[in-house]
Amino acid sequence: PSPLDRDQMQGLRGIREFLKVRTSYDVLPLSFRLIVLDNDLLIKKSLNILIQNGIVSAPLWDSRNSTFAGLLTSTDYINVIQYYWQFPDEIDQVDRFRLSSLREIEKALGVEPLETVSVHPMRPLYEACRRMLRTRARRIPLVDVDGETKRETVVSVITQYRILKFIAVNNEKHTVLLRKPVREIGLGTYTNLATASMNSSVLDVIHLMVKHNISAVPIVDKENRVLNVFEAVDVIPCIKGGAYDELSGSVGEALSKRADDFPGIYTCSEEDRLDSIFDTIRKSRVHRLIVVDDESRLRGIISLSDILKYVLLHGEEEDDIRAA
Ligand code: ADP
Repeated sequence: PSPLDRDQMQGLRGIREFLKVRTSYDVLPLSFRLIVLDNDLLIKKSLNILIQNGIVSAPLWDSRNSTFAGLLTSTDYINVIQYYWQFPDEIDQVDRFRLSSLREIEKALGVEPLETVSVHPMRPLYEACRRMLRTRARRIPLVDVDGETKRETVVSVITQYRILKFIAVNNEKHTVLLRKPVREIGLGTYTNLATASMNSSVLDVIHLMVKHNISAVPIVDKENRVLNVFEAVDVIPCIKGGAYDELSGSVGEALSKRADDFPGIYTCSEEDRLDSIFDTIRKSRVHRLIVVDDESRLRGIISLSDILKYVLLHGEEEDDIRAA
């Protein structure tokens, strides 16, 4: 192998070792807040709480049984929207749905159940990463169980971004070794890209996300130049107050509802290297990178799960991957 290949593998191995000796607990900041929602809350009200607190997800708590009841994410709201459009006769009911009704909505739609996967905060971080990749969860709750009372406590939630940022901040000596260009390592998706235009309706974009099982759709002009990205979380302000029927509005209008602190979209080129992507992650709250050419035309998408998967699994034997 070339020195470049050797360094790349050495960097990846270094990061993997690091993830095995750190725990999920290590990723948490010294002080943080956690908003947990009661399962009995009306879905309509949960939207306002998320918006008011500037968050896009929250663990659910079943106070009758004192147990963790899964993680509420934008996917759940997308399910409600689909339900609303598939069962128009039940529109009156939708307003009365509680978070605990999400299960029935999933059943009616025949979709995957609410994410209930969790990890113990003191388990190796590597394990949390593997579980995320296996279940395709973008965030994972840290749930602790009291040895005596057997009661569960939700400690926090860690996201793919937090893990990658933790790697970027603490592992520069390994990330600098990752000097192979994105094009060469095939990082991301470059074919069958789902895109939409500013005039597409929000509902159409939601259907695209559901159909392709993706969390973002690039918004492009006629020349395929990237103008913006519509993310699954952008759905939340659109349906504030239960305004499910307003989703026929355009993507352009919906994007103007973004919070003032929206971090923006991040682009890169196919010549960029993973080390510079880690620099971007270190400095900014990146949710994905849009790969563009010199004229801002869309080439591909690199999701955080693509990066995590590469960092954890590239060069591992298939058998090892299954066994781990
Ligand atoms: P994440 O799991 O990090 O939230 P996504 O769900 O958006 O990321 O992406 C899942 C997979 O689909 C990734 O491999 C990504 O490259 C690919 N992907 C993401 N967005 C699109 C899109 N608009 N069109 C086609 N593929 C996409």
